[in-house]
Amino acid sequence: MGSDFEITIVEKNESNANKLINIAINEISRIESLISSWNKNSQTSLINHNAGIKPVKVDKELFELILRSIKISNLSQGAFDISYASLDKVWYFDKKMTEIPTDLQIKKSVSKVGFKNIIMNKKEQTVFLKLKGMKIGFGAIGKGYAADRAKEILIKNNVKSGIINASGDLTAWGHKPSGKDWMVAIVNPLNKSKVFSWLPIKNKSVVTSGNYERFVKFNGKLYSHIIDPRTGYPSEGILSVTIITENAELADALATSVFVLGQEIGMNMINQLKGVDCIIINRDNKIIKSENIQINEI
Ligand code: ADP
Ligand code: MG
Repeated sequence: MGSDFEITIVEKNESNANKLINIAINEISRIESLISSWNKNSQTSLINHNAGIKPVKVDKELFELILRSIKISNLSQGAFDISYASLDKVWYFDKKMTEIPTDLQIKKSVSKVGFKNIIMNKKEQTVFLKLKGMKIGFGAIGKGYAADRAKEILIKNNVKSGIINASGDLTAWGHKPSGKDWMVAIVNPLNKSKVFSWLPIKNKSVVTSGNYERFVKFNGKLYSHIIDPRTGYPSEGILSVTIITENAELADALATSVFVLGQEIGMNMINQLKGVDCIIINRDNKIIKSENIQINEI
């Protein structure tokens, strides 16, 4: 998934702990091979290769992940869209971009974007991308999904507390060995050693979008790796969005959604969702919090 996972569990016996951690690692690798679009043989790649050609039968697990992704697209009015991925030919961040794409290139690619053209057939369990050149990618939801599954499999194996940390996107359950709550730091995205606040978390996920290590710069301007699927251009205006809720997958997808929707509309959406908290750090380095969140700034 292009990011490191760090797994922490509370367990008395070290060799037991290592065995359990390996179970979680295997689960994350299993998910990676299902959803990765880098892996040519994954079911996701198969769907992409058959865009505009034919429906592809997939595992129930992938089918349902795509259904949930479409739900978030509807909720976010298209700000979150796994079919953003045809734009990864014009905006890419894993190798060096040498020039800014032209309006025409962007127009061409964005014409392939649109979750309404992901055709789901429940009975046949198939996925069909209607347009040739369409593509899906789970960059904004996969890490959260994998973290949820790794946690679930550890809980099934009787692990009472732990943290799955996917490069800063994390889900935690249980308590520290001392019996106290796990604590998560909210940092300034421009200076990671500067902590804004500490949050105690109980069975919660904390996910941040606006990875400041992934951007390109042209003529002094930063272009982020989160793309507005409606325009085809990188989203601007927010430095980072942190979502706090139980489910890591939802947190991941909502963080990306709010990043694209912007401070006002994004926060408005969050304030209508029960059990979801949000912290935005805007371009002026100001912290904006959702209505019901309780954090102590330091
Ligand atoms: P971060 O890496 O900062 O945690 P996200 O969880 O928001 O960020 O995921 C960003 C990744 O999701 C991008 O690198 C890209 O692969 C993909 N992506 C970009 N824009 C969108 C979008 N509007 N909807 C869905 N996925 C997106
Ligand atoms: Mg995300």
